[in-house]
Amino acid sequence: MITSIEQSGTGPTAETERGQAGGTGLLLVVSGPSAVGKDTVLDALLARPDLPRPVQKCVTTTTRPPRPKDGGRGMEEDGVDYHFVSPARFNAMVAQDELLEYAEYADNYYGTPRAWVAERRLRGIDVILKIEVQGGLIVQEKAPDAVLVFLQPPSLEELERRLRHRRTDSDDQIAKRLLHARKEMAQRPHYDYAVTNDSVEDAVDAIRAVLRAEHCRIHNGASNA
Ligand code: 5GP
Repeated sequence: MITSIEQSGTGPTAETERGQAGGTGLLLVVSGPSAVGKDTVLDALLARPDLPRPVQKCVTTTTRPPRPKDGGRGMEEDGVDYHFVSPARFNAMVAQDELLEYAEYADNYYGTPRAWVAERRLRGIDVILKIEVQGGLIVQEKAPDAVLVFLQPPSLEELERRLRHRRTDSDDQIAKRLLHARKEMAQRPHYDYAVTNDSVEDAVDAIRAVLRAEHCRIHNGASNA
């Protein structure tokens, strides 16, 4: 059972996750309910020419099979959208402590490759993890200098409108996603920043401002620990 494995206190310490003082890249976690617009906002952020440092989004690992993307014009690709692995391979990665965090979501497992994140940060690259809330909170515990951004809809009514507009879910699935969204919103106080995705441009500006501010920080969660 993957869920029975203790996730804190094993493997490299927070010190290792943190990398060296000075030019280390930030670890930015971005979470938010389904249909809030995480991909749109992050794609627009990564396209900005005026970011304080190079930024890369982590390709995470999942046991879920690839699904259609771009409105059915293509399929998700291994190594681009996710590293798609079997449950047995995922178990082995957990056992070998290769994942910085992992979580179960809608009957599938998802996890962040530890080595990739550490290597990019040591090279001074800011790393973005687009992960769900349980995983975000584990990252906060294991890498105390991680910065957690919660992307929120202007309201739950607007989120429901966006979910219906996607036309990918049944009424039943929409109800489940909204219930899940309420649970995720309840975790928002544990995050460092809340950014409202009212307009994509404003949300991107806000996350860019977070990156800039965090690069100016003298003390972070790690050095105060
Ligand atoms: P989806 O199946 O829709 O691609 O992803 C489901 C949820 O899992 C999304 O909220 C996504 O951000 C999250 N997710 C993707 N990769 C990871 C990961 O490595 N760890 C965790 N905890 N969540 C992830």
